[in-house]
Amino acid sequence: MISVAIDGPAGAGKSTIAKLAAKRLNFIYVDTGALYRTLGLYGRRSKTDIYNGDELERLLNNSVVELKYIDSEQRVFLNGEDVSDDIRSSEMGAAASEISAIPRVREHLLGLQRDMAKRYNVIMDGRDIGTVVLPNADVKIFLTASPECRAKRRLSDLAAKGEAVDFDEVLQMIIKRDYQDSHRAIAPLKPADDSILIDTTELDLEQSADKIISVIIEKTGLKIK
Ligand code: C5P
Repeated sequence: MISVAIDGPAGAGKSTIAKLAAKRLNFIYVDTGALYRTLGLYGRRSKTDIYNGDELERLLNNSVVELKYIDSEQRVFLNGEDVSDDIRSSEMGAAASEISAIPRVREHLLGLQRDMAKRYNVIMDGRDIGTVVLPNADVKIFLTASPECRAKRRLSDLAAKGEAVDFDEVLQMIIKRDYQDSHRAIAPLKPADDSILIDTTELDLEQSADKIISVIIEKTGLKIK
């Protein structure tokens, strides 16, 4: 099996670009942020105090999180309910960021992520895939873009979903999330030593996907039809 780890900050275009590249290569695209968002959503819905050990344990024990692929689209299920759309709000992004900083939560989701890479050729996107989840990934890419560029992209994503927010608000949110994700004690966002840095500020989606595909081909010798 071939595994490709793509890490990087929020809004670098990881999910869209990784999805596109996975489709072209016929790989499974695994969006690991969706797993943290799902637990964040469950925490909010159940009004769990995630910083209370017993309550957190109950939340983890009571949640079955599953990834399914329908028409090669990843869908995430929480206790049998498809929550893929509900987790996409910026509130759930914040909930994910909070819950993902808890070591017990990261450990809980490790098996599921590694299992996907054992079973399929994957492009897995997240924050710590190349450093922690798949340290032996065949290809490691760190995808980034300037904060302003990422804010612009996030703004149009949210606008498409009918969430009205202004540019400065999104920019501040991105800067805050970058800080939280890269300064936390566990699995901080940072490029793996052996990762290849790709900056997408000046690239469109197609160019970014092409770049990733050429890196994968070069590193693995993969032949595409
Ligand atoms: O990628 P996405 O924006 O959906 O991720 C939401 C949050 O989940 C991130 O801000 C980050 O805090 C957390 N996350 C993580 N590790 C991952 C994927 C996401 O900590 N592998």
